[in-house]
Amino acid sequence: MKKVVKIVKGKLIREGVSNKDLINRAKSLSNARNLSKSVRVASVGCALLSGKGNIYIGINVHTDCDLGFCAEHSAIANMILNGEYVIKKIVAVHGDKIYPPCGRCRELMYQLSRENRNTEIIVGETHTHKLKELLPDPWEDLVVKTNGKTKVTK
Ligand SMILES: [Zn+2]
Repeated sequence: MKKVVKIVKGKLIREGVSNKDLINRAKSLSNARNLSKSVRVASVGCALLSGKGNIYIGINVHTDCDLGFCAEHSAIANMILNGEYVIKKIVAVHGDKIYPPCGRCRELMYQLSRENRNTEIIVGETHTHKLKELLPDPWEDLVVKTNGKTKVTK
């Protein structure tokens, strides 16, 4: 496997990325700490491999009043900053435990690109699910927007 070539704006450029590589990268980011009395960050780390073969990373942000976002969101935002929308593989780790993405993150990945239906969600070193298996009825496919009004289609 080739090693890291360079790091730019939270993006590692590398080839031959294994599930274990992504798990270890996400695990290295999971370092929970308090920023203030009510804000905690980085209890969860995320690493994703984009369709173009780049790795993007992120951490979660959580506040006592339930503001904040998942680690997947910040990794995906890094990817978008670099003009990419397709995710080949993704993993989020809390301490030593892999967390599958929440419903909001699943829907976000799907709405970014239909190609993400085939994103591999890493739930173990040798165990993955396709996003389409974890999101059989995406919200976006069940709802049609007509003249600014939302209509449920099923
Ligand atoms: Zn989430």
